Amino acid sequence: MRQVNTRLTRLGVRPQEIDALLVTHEHSDHWSGVVSLASKFNIPVYLTAGSRRVSDTLPASLVNIINGDCPFAIGDFTITPVPVPHDAREPVQFIVDTAARRCGILTDIGRMTPHVVQHYQSCDALFLEANHDADILFAGPYPAFLKERVSGGWGHLNNQQAVDFVQKVNLSQLQYIVFGHISEQNNCLDRLRELVATSLLDVGKVHYASQGQGLDWLVIQ
Ligand SMILES: [Zn+2]
Ligand SMILES: [Zn+2]
Repeated sequence: MRQVNTRLTRLGVRPQEIDALLVTHEHSDHWSGVVSLASKFNIPVYLTAGSRRVSDTLPASLVNIINGDCPFAIGDFTITPVPVPHDAREPVQFIVDTAARRCGILTDIGRMTPHVVQHYQSCDALFLEANHDADILFAGPYPAFLKERVSGGWGHLNNQQAVDFVQKVNLSQLQYIVFGHISEQNNCLDRLRELVATSLLDVGKVHYASQGQGLDWLVIQ
């Protein structure tokens, strides 16, 4: 709650203005604080049945169970959940569409699947995980089982995998790409920037969300 308050204040948003919380999965970096925030401000929470199973402290009146294969509407937005390979109960990521614009959010995914690549085509804005640098992870202090978990097909995308994914999707409409879920322990922003600069894109469209600072508003035209 403290983090949410700090970050919302920085963005000029009051918690009372939030219409819905979309939960991707139950890992603590995505789940902690959801129950208290939703309960305090009476905010509906959208999550899969699998995520719900491990979140029984969430008041039933706020729960909206979503089907991982069915788009749903919140206000003017159409939300498309996309199931992803990750070591949680029933993880999804989300694509948010309006009549004219599409924003994709994709973190906590161990490997790309054809289904994911197909769904994230033609985004106007994309928030994408670049979790770790494989060399830094394997040279680093994590125990062997954790290195396997993070780098494995049910863990997280490394920098190279993130760049490979970007090269598979249609970028003709892309206004912004934000790399996020960047590990402080197992990544290095300079190395990621260098990889992005040599392999991708118009780097003018690229932003990086840090764990400490988060990200300022970006306006999709
Ligand atoms: Zn995560
Ligand atoms: Zn996770």
